Amino acid sequence: MLFGAHVSAAGGISNAIDRIAEVGGDAVQVFTQSPRMWKPTTYSVEELARFRERREAAGVGHVSCHALYLVNLASRDPEIREKSVVALRATLETARAIEADAVVFHVGSHLGYGFEEAVAVVAGALRDLLELTSERLWLCVENTAGAGGTIGRSLDELAALCDAVDRHPRLGLCLDSCHLWASGVDVSDAAALEATLGELDTRIGLDRVRALHVNDSQTPLGSNRDRHDRVGHGLLGDGLATFLGHPAFADLPAITETWEDATDLARMRDLHRRGRRRWARRLRLSR
Ligand SMILES: [Zn+2]
Ligand SMILES: [Zn+2]
Repeated sequence: MLFGAHVSAAGGISNAIDRIAEVGGDAVQVFTQSPRMWKPTTYSVEELARFRERREAAGVGHVSCHALYLVNLASRDPEIREKSVVALRATLETARAIEADAVVFHVGSHLGYGFEEAVAVVAGALRDLLELTSERLWLCVENTAGAGGTIGRSLDELAALCDAVDRHPRLGLCLDSCHLWASGVDVSDAAALEATLGELDTRIGLDRVRALHVNDSQTPLGSNRDRHDRVGHGLLGDGLATFLGHPAFADLPAITETWEDATDLARMRDLHRRGRRRWARRLRLSR
C-alpha cells in the first residue's frame, strides 16, 4: 500500500512533490486548479516537466488529480453542464501532462429530479471524457456521503453509472472511507466491509477501485453528512484499521485529505499494520 495525502500545489504544481516528500508520503493528490473557481490554471511546459522529474526523483508511486468541487455533470442547466465538462477536460489534460494515474471527481447532484434521469445525462458527458484517459490515466468517480441528491452514494448508483458507459475499461472508483461511513456502510466492521466489497466486486469489479481516500468522520454512520476528521480523531477512530487492512486494498494508494503533519501518515501506516493482522486472523478462522 502507498500512503499519501492531498497537498497544495501553490507556487507551481511541482511543489506538490516536495510537500509530500517532506512528510514521507509515497502517493499524492493535488488540485490542478483552484477547486472553487471555473478558471483553469495553465502550466508551462517546463513546470510540467519539473513535476515529472521531481516525482521520479522522490519515488512517488501514485499521483491523483482531484477535479474542482463546482463540477456537476447532472445539472439541468446546460451552461453548468458544459462548464463542468470543460473543467474536467482541463483536469484530464493537465493530469496527462504530468503523467498522473487518476483524475478523481464528484459526479455532482441531480438536486432532486431523480437518479434514473440523471444517469442518462451524466453518461453522455462521461463517455466523451473517458476518451481522454489512457492506459495509465483513469477517470475515477468518488463515492459520496449521500447528501442532497449527490450521485454515487450507493453501490446501486455506482454500478448504474458503470453500466451506463458500457463498463468502459478506464472508468475507476475512488472509495472514501468517510463518505462510505456517512452513506451507511460501517467500514470499521469487518463483516459489513466484506459484504460491501463482495457486492462491489460482483457488480462493478474490485479492479476498478484505483485509489482510497482515508478520512475519519465527525458525523455518525448513515448521517449523509460529509464532515472529514483527521485519521484516528473522529468517530471511526481505530476502526479505520479494518478499512485500511482489507486484503483487496493491499496495492492501492491510501490518500488522506484531512491532515496536519507527518504523524497523520504514521498513524495511517500503523492502522494499516494492525488492520492487516486483524484480517489475517479473520481469514484464518474462517477457513
Ligand atoms: Zn475524498
Ligand atoms: Zn468528503
